[in-house]
Amino acid sequence: MPRPSFIYFDIDDTLLDHVAAQKNALRHVFGQYRCFKEIDFESFSQAYSRINTGLWKDYSLGNINRDDLQNRRFRDSILEAGADNSESESIGRDYIMAYRNEWKWIDGAREALENLSKNYRLGFITNGFSETQKLKIESFGLSSYSDHIIISEDVGYLKPSPEIFNYAEELAGSKGEDVLYVGDNFMSDIQGGNSAGWQTAWYTSEKNDALTSQANIVFSKFEQLTKTLS
Ligand SMILES: [Mg+2]
Repeated sequence: MPRPSFIYFDIDDTLLDHVAAQKNALRHVFGQYRCFKEIDFESFSQAYSRINTGLWKDYSLGNINRDDLQNRRFRDSILEAGADNSESESIGRDYIMAYRNEWKWIDGAREALENLSKNYRLGFITNGFSETQKLKIESFGLSSYSDHIIISEDVGYLKPSPEIFNYAEELAGSKGEDVLYVGDNFMSDIQGGNSAGWQTAWYTSEKNDALTSQANIVFSKFEQLTKTLS
C-alpha cells in the first residue's frame, strides 16, 4: 500500500460514539413520555434503529426530506410498538437535544488525530444533518485538525455515492489512490471508498476474511492505525 498523502475520516462511530449517544438519548426520552410506559426499552431501541436506518436510506435516495425523517422515525417506531404516537414530533425534538449532550470520543480516536496530524493532511466526510454535524465538529474541535470538512447534506450526496468522494478528492487536491478513507461502515465507507479508487481503513471487530480483505487496513484499536501509518 503506497503511503497516502491525505487521510479523510468518517465521524459517527469512527471518531465519536454515535451508537452509545443514540441509546442514551433514547433512554432519556423514554423516561420523559407516558407513551413509553408499557414498552420494553431494549426492543423499542432495536425497532427504532431499524426504522431509522430504513428512513435514512429513503432520505439518501431523495424519497423523503429531513423533516419526514426526523418525525417519522418516532411516529413509526411508537406505532409499531402499539402505543400512542401523537407526541412523536415533540419526542423527536427532545431526542435531538438529548443526543447532543451524549457525544463522546471513541477510545483513542482523539490521540490518533493528534498524532496523524503531525505527518498527514487530514479531513472529514460525514453523512448527517448539517446542523447536527456542525455542532459535533465545533464541540470536539475537529476544525483544528482540518478545514476539509464535508457534510452530506451540504453537498447533496451521501456516502457511498462516488460524487461525495470525488468532491472530497478534488478539495484535497490529491489523486484518489493517494487518499485514505477511515470509517466503520462497510458499505458507506469501505465499499464507497474502494469504488472511488481510494485506499481504505476499516475500524471494525469483524473477522470475516471475505469482508476484511476488501480494506487496505483493518483495525479495532486506534493505536493500530497510528502504528500502521507511522
Ligand atoms: Mg460511521
